[in-house]
Amino acid sequence: MNDYNDDYDDFEGSASDLEDLGHTIIDCADCHSPLIDIWRVQESERRTDIKVICDNPDCQGSSWKYLVEGEFYIGCTDKSRIVDIEESDGMTLIHAVSQKEGEV
Ligand SMILES: [Zn+2]
Repeated sequence: MNDYNDDYDDFEGSASDLEDLGHTIIDCADCHSPLIDIWRVQESERRTDIKVICDNPDCQGSSWKYLVEGEFYIGCTDKSRIVDIEESDGMTLIHAVSQKEGEV
């Protein structure tokens, strides 16, 4: 887990409302690294467009756009680290890098 989970939390329900609706790993479309983990926790009307920017030095690509339905948390994967999260044109852009084997 990382600090962005707390920083980015605009979830308005109480913790007891949380469900586990499943995780979706978003890969970089260019280098295919698993970059972030979307964890859906509650059905709602909320719709969020997400795109992940791959900040790997030898890639600089991005994921495909992904539409998240409902409430969710953004986390890193066991191979990646979130660098920054920003809002742009109604889309949530997440900068992430993937770690090479053996790095922590
Ligand atoms: Zn990449």
